[in-house]
Amino acid sequence: MFIRKIGIDLGTANTLVFIPGKGVVVNEPSVVAISILDNRVLAVGLEAKEMLGRTPDTIMASRPMKDGVIADYRVTEAMLKHFINKVSGKFRLVRPEIMISIPAGITSTERRAVIDAAVRSGAKSAYVVKEPILAAIGAGIPINSPAGNMIIDIGGGTSEVAIISLGGIVAAHSARVGGNKFDQAIADYIKRKYSLSIGDRTAEDIKIKIGSAIAQVKEDYMEVRGRDLTGGLPKTIKISSNEVTEALQDELREVINAIKKVLQETPPELAADVMDKGMVLSGGGALLRHLDQLITKTIEVPCYVAEDPLFCVIKGIGKALDNLDEYKRTILLGK
Ligand code: ADP
Ligand code: MG
Repeated sequence: MFIRKIGIDLGTANTLVFIPGKGVVVNEPSVVAISILDNRVLAVGLEAKEMLGRTPDTIMASRPMKDGVIADYRVTEAMLKHFINKVSGKFRLVRPEIMISIPAGITSTERRAVIDAAVRSGAKSAYVVKEPILAAIGAGIPINSPAGNMIIDIGGGTSEVAIISLGGIVAAHSARVGGNKFDQAIADYIKRKYSLSIGDRTAEDIKIKIGSAIAQVKEDYMEVRGRDLTGGLPKTIKISSNEVTEALQDELREVINAIKKVLQETPPELAADVMDKGMVLSGGGALLRHLDQLITKTIEVPCYVAEDPLFCVIKGIGKALDNLDEYKRTILLGK
């Protein structure tokens, strides 16, 4: 079978690839390992993520997308090429059309760079679509209806909040806070309180295993290993879920403020729709326990987590690829 269409969710934390008729064929961390001596790409995705924080001086493992934008074009292109080759094979007869999600706040130069990277990676043409729109489609929101819908996508680097009506974004805000900053906040907290230095992956582990956006009466606990900052030796401490909640306060406030900001810019009719229908949470950050409750309580508008929040954007890409006509108004530009 020739691959004619490919969809890519180019996220700061994870890259997913969709092929019509096959489904999601790649779901890997957006990490690339490069040999510093000769600038060669050594590993991409899962294999490269294993190297993060463990590389010798001669290898650099990095995330080419930061804060929802491309921090390193060359590495991003290498990553795109790797995934496109992986799914379409070396001897392709038909060059595929590619649809890629991009953050709503991306500049036109960055947008161009994504398209160029896709074309250089072997695409016949590339379309880019704004992430909140795709997340909304993937969450099952009827984006083409004349009604206001709010989507809050919390990824690794950014939280994108958008009001969508008639297939377009009416108001949006992108805050540079997301899962990565949550992890950093947890690491900083443990450093301050226990003088224990922990790695990014341990911090992420804590967040996923016991993190909660609201303090709980019945707490969860976890043992955490790191390096003692005073003696320099390995040490183990026990941390509770309420401590994680405390560690995340500032970051959670930033997410809430982004939501408030968008609501304040939303025309009254659409705001009334959102009050009625509630707000939908997507992205990996939506999986932080009780985040929906925290948002519902602080904003006083019901908030729900979408089904499979990590897959909303790629599911949206899948639907858009299958129904290009229906969504043509929302497809930004191609080549
Ligand atoms: P991006 O679109 O930027 O690639 P994703 O939507 O894939 O981001 O979300 C990745 C983020 O979600 C990471 O920061 C990860 O730690 C976080 N995440 C994944 N699962 C959970 C969970 N169960 N609880 C809290 N955060 C999670
Ligand atoms: Mg995303």
